[in-house]
Amino acid sequence: MDNCIFCKIIAGELPGKVVYEDPMVVAVEDIDPQAPHHYLIFPRKHLPTTLDLTEGDDQLVGHVFRVAAKLARDHGFAERGFRVVNNCNEGAGQSVWHIHFHLLGGRDLSWPPG
Ligand code: 5GP
Ligand code: ZN
Repeated sequence: MDNCIFCKIIAGELPGKVVYEDPMVVAVEDIDPQAPHHYLIFPRKHLPTTLDLTEGDDQLVGHVFRVAAKLARDHGFAERGFRVVNNCNEGAGQSVWHIHFHLLGGRDLSWPPG
């Protein structure tokens, strides 16, 4: 998708610190980390928001959570605890219109979120 920063990272047209990739998803370090570990997991397929998911994406979303668990284990913060967050639309803080899941860990995370 034109002018989508995550599509451009996937295409190698923008730099990104890739920590994981496979045929379905890519994970990068967030450019403005909110925790000692803050990764963004997004599908290679351009979907603007969670509202655009269809039944055919069920496996994709499940896969995202398995990748999150793998990254948390591989980077040593799984046992302490971590959070997977998807912000949908502006009122929830979404700022990049290519669906993505934040993986945050490496510190205690308060609840409820802001
Ligand atoms: P949202 O606000 O849409 O839930 O999350 C977007 C995230 O993308 C933010 O945490 C922001 O720091 C991150 N971000 C924005 N631009 C870039 C970029 O060019 N590269 C990377 N790696 N992260 C970005
Ligand atoms: Zn995109």
